[in-house]
Order: sequence, then structure tokens, then C-alpha cells
Amino acid sequence: MSVEAILLGSAQDGGLPQAGCYCTQCAPGHADPTLRRRVVCLGLVDRATHQSWLIDATPDLPEQLGVVHGLAPGCPLAGIALTHAHVGHYTGLIHLGYEAWNTQGLPVYVSPIMARFLRKNGPWSQLVGLGNIELHTLDLDQESRLSPNLDLMPVSVPHRAEFSDTLAFVVRGPARRLFYCPDIDGWDGWEHDLRGFVAGMDVALLDGTFFSPDELAERDLSSIPHALVTDTAKWLAGVNCDVRLIHLNHSNPLHRPGPERAWLAAQGIGVGVFGARWSLD
Ligand SMILES: [Zn+2]
Ligand SMILES: [Zn+2]
Ligand SMILES: [Zn+2]
Repeated sequence: MSVEAILLGSAQDGGLPQAGCYCTQCAPGHADPTLRRRVVCLGLVDRATHQSWLIDATPDLPEQLGVVHGLAPGCPLAGIALTHAHVGHYTGLIHLGYEAWNTQGLPVYVSPIMARFLRKNGPWSQLVGLGNIELHTLDLDQESRLSPNLDLMPVSVPHRAEFSDTLAFVVRGPARRLFYCPDIDGWDGWEHDLRGFVAGMDVALLDGTFFSPDELAERDLSSIPHALVTDTAKWLAGVNCDVRLIHLNHSNPLHRPGPERAWLAAQGIGVGVFGARWSLD
């Protein structure tokens, strides 16, 4: 595999175990670190140009970068693309700063609104001011070249927008296309038809935050809208694409093998697991 994508996490922003939660899904991870699930992130590698990239900078960034380094030691980090300003998706940038790695001019690919947010708010503004990162704004629906073998196209998705808008990304390698969409409020409100869009991809990594509406008794699900797995499966049953669900909330039964995973598999849809790899050439 010269050009490949690597899934570096499968959990929603809070990870698994989630801080302060000792539910039946989180408890084993507190007791045994090998049962942890990292926050969702995608690694990209181009062995022809000796470069790698991350999509999203999570609180688990040091470990996730280490995994890419282990698989492609001659391909140092050449940039990071960010979907949006929710904590699981960008706060890993802290590891690039003066107190830590102290990178020099690392390209960070963002929407114009996200760029403004990072420039105007500390501690992110310090990364910009000290030149640790260099912000590159992306145009919606336009491909940007990461390398001669990899193009990145941002697509707008509807999602809670307290600090920034939200992007999903189409990654195009020499022969295959992958769609990365960790957060969306619902497929109905999207400008694209989900089934048609996914049918044009080889791989689709999609928001699977909540399996069903009765998952979070103590939180009002209408205040944290996401496409439910049961709905997504209806949209996509039998579609000709390798679909995996990612960004699983700590409460989501899909974290472990069981009847929910079996049901999903019967619809032809998988669950994204840490370390899964796809060749894009
Ligand atoms: Zn998220
Ligand atoms: Zn929990
Ligand atoms: Zn979000």
C-alpha cells in the first residue's frame, strides 16, 4: 500500500471510558487501559512522497501519531485537517505548541470560520502567533492537493455550530475514494442524498454516535442531535460501498460485539475499529 488511510480511533469526543462515567461500557476501560477506545481520527500516508497527515486533532493525538509513525516511520507528519471546533476534533493541537512538540509552520487545513476561531482565541492563537501552525483555508466542494497522490475535498455538513461550522472530507487517492464524516445532525438536513453520495465512494466512515433514541436516559437527545444508527442503516442497506460507523458515544452498544453489531452486519454495514487500514491506490 503506497497510499493508505488508517482509522486511529472510533469513539465520540469524550472517548471511552468517558471522564466521570462508570457505566457498564466505561467501567472496564477504567480498570484496563487496553480496553480504552480512542477518539475518532483518520491517518493518511503517502509512501511515494514520504508524508503523512491527520484528519482531526484529538485529545489522543500523541498516541495516534505514534501509530502512524510505527506503520510508516519514513513519512513524517505533513499537515492536519480539522472538521470542526468541538473538543474531540481539534484540542489535540495543544501538543504542537511551545510547551510540547513546538512544530514549525505545520500546515493546518480548515474552513475560513474555523481559521478565524483559531486566530482569535487562546491558546490556539499562540500556535498561530508563534508559527507552530500555518492555517490554510479550504474552499467547500473544491479539491485541495495534499500530495500528487492525495486530494482532500471539504463538504459542509449540518451540525451544532457554537464556535465553527463543520466539514466532512472526501479523500481521493490514485484509485479509491474515502468519505470521512464523524459528526452530522442528520442526513435529512444535508444538501446531498446520503445513499447516492456514499455509492460514489469506495469507503465511507460515518457518524454512528447513538445506536437508538433510548440510549441516553439522562440527557435530552434532541439537544444533541445525530443521525441514529438505525436510521443510517435504513438509508444505506445494501449500498455498494465499504461503510463503517465511527464516533461512537460511550453508551453505544456497537463498541462491543453483540446483537446490535450482528444486526448492523446483516444490513451490510460495519463498525470502524482502531487500526483498520484501506489502500487508496
Ligand atoms: Zn464529535
Ligand atoms: Zn459510560
Ligand atoms: Zn461535533
